[in-house]
Amino acid sequence: MDKKRRNTKAKHLITSVLENSNSALCHEDIEKQIPEKMDRVTIYRVLQGFCDSGKVHKIISEDGKTYYALCHNCTEEKHQDNHPHFHCIACDTITCIEEPVAPQTLPHGYSAVVVASYISGYCQKCSSLMKTVLLFVLVFAGQNDF
Ligand SMILES: [Zn+2]
Ligand SMILES: [Zn+2]
Ligand SMILES: [Zn+2]
Repeated sequence: MDKKRRNTKAKHLITSVLENSNSALCHEDIEKQIPEKMDRVTIYRVLQGFCDSGKVHKIISEDGKTYYALCHNCTEEKHQDNHPHFHCIACDTITCIEEPVAPQTLPHGYSAVVVASYISGYCQKCSSLMKTVLLFVLVFAGQNDF
């Protein structure tokens, strides 16, 4: 296979991995989910190209790791991923919060260009799971009392 064809194939495979994921993926996640072996440099180049063309945006986690997620309305000239990113500390996933959130207020004299917050906590799945566990514990403790 020539280089150009191989590149097209790599782009296609990486796109489908990102499309099939509900959360942002780091380099290793992508590498693991690609159905065939692909070298790190190729993956890195494709991801970098996607970032340049407005197809994918980067998210830096609190431990400095880079995650990638698909963009929705971005162009080559301008990324507009001004949405918060949510890191679930229970299942260790990073998701894009696409619903609009209240804009940040800034002290007088500051003007925002990019607004992208990073929030850590429990995602919908994990917080409902915790509620179930808590309920179970409460019911169990209640039964023990009688
Ligand atoms: Zn973007
Ligand atoms: Zn979670
Ligand atoms: Zn995002």
